[in-house]
Amino acid sequence: MHDIVLIPGDGIGPEITKSVTTILKKAGVDINWIRCTAGLSAYKELGDPLPDETVEAIDKYRVALKGPLTTPVGAGFRSVNVAMRKKFNLYSNIRPAKTLPHIKSHFDDVNLVMFRENTEGLYIGKEKWVKENSHAESIAVVTREASEKIIRASFEYAQKNGREKVTLVHKANILKYTCGLFLEVGNKIAEDYPGIEYEDLIVDNMAMQMVLRPEQFDVIVTTNLFGDILSDLASGLVGGLGLTGAANIGDDAAMFEAVHGSAPDIAGQNKANPIAFLLSSLMMLEHIGEEALADRIRQAVYYTLEEKSVCTPDIGGSGSTTSFTKAVCDNLE
Ligand code: NAD
Repeated sequence: MHDIVLIPGDGIGPEITKSVTTILKKAGVDINWIRCTAGLSAYKELGDPLPDETVEAIDKYRVALKGPLTTPVGAGFRSVNVAMRKKFNLYSNIRPAKTLPHIKSHFDDVNLVMFRENTEGLYIGKEKWVKENSHAESIAVVTREASEKIIRASFEYAQKNGREKVTLVHKANILKYTCGLFLEVGNKIAEDYPGIEYEDLIVDNMAMQMVLRPEQFDVIVTTNLFGDILSDLASGLVGGLGLTGAANIGDDAAMFEAVHGSAPDIAGQNKANPIAFLLSSLMMLEHIGEEALADRIRQAVYYTLEEKSVCTPDIGGSGSTTSFTKAVCDNLE
């Protein structure tokens, strides 16, 4: 029996959480879910977007499956996702994007894994008004220590998983200190892995290359903001945000979530695609040593993708969250 913290989250979060827990139960995964709250729903209910009980539960159980959390745009509380990544030093945000069977997209064989630095960059939230409402400043932090951790994690992943190339993405031509440091660390670490091809690309060129010829990329490592943007782009390459899972891994804790957000435009309509969150939960199963179960569920998902009548509208289906969930459960039998 595994004890795992479960945070359903906001918007479509509760719907996709129900789908994923139903499928995992059907597959016979032995999990004791420790249910907690965070985000806008927690703020409305308890006046705190990150209640102490949630932090204490993650601290105790060390593995969490988290639905998307709404962060108010402009004013309001700061991102709880960013706070949790920082609090538990979940420095590796790992976001695979892989072409799936029976999914229409512009490319046939995308299979890349993005390693996004998850604790620094512009996401540290150090912003100020130099002059109220007319001049704002934001600080980006890049440290050698955090850069080493994420870049080494990407090379280790490449080595363990038979990947051939690591591409480091930066903007060191303009951000000479911050991105310059990240690139310098990458160049040094690459020397420890002579069997893995290494290249660096400037982020604007990278965006164009990914859209033009994504098959050339294997493992990608980059700073926080570039990774956030490029991983959504990578989701688009394989059919959309409803299809890409993610892991936030640190030395002492791990939190699994979809790449997408709370999708308020479709919340409560039984339209949310649960695949991204399900794939995140499979990364979680692999993390806790349940690889065989993860594989079995993945195969059931691939099989179900052929039945367009049960799939959600974002991937060309005419079904719903619940019809897809039921079909995956049926295909697990
Ligand atoms: P979003 O990812 O929620 O939605 C973008 C678009 O993709 C929308 O049209 C949405 O309907 C669609 N989409 C997303 N997930 C889908 C799914 N599973 N199935 C079908 N369609 C899906 O991005 P947004 O609208 O920019 O952000 C909404 C909120 O989510 C914001 O408050 C933002 O801060 C938050 N957010 C949270 C996380 C997280 O919790 N990790 C990540 C990104 C955004």
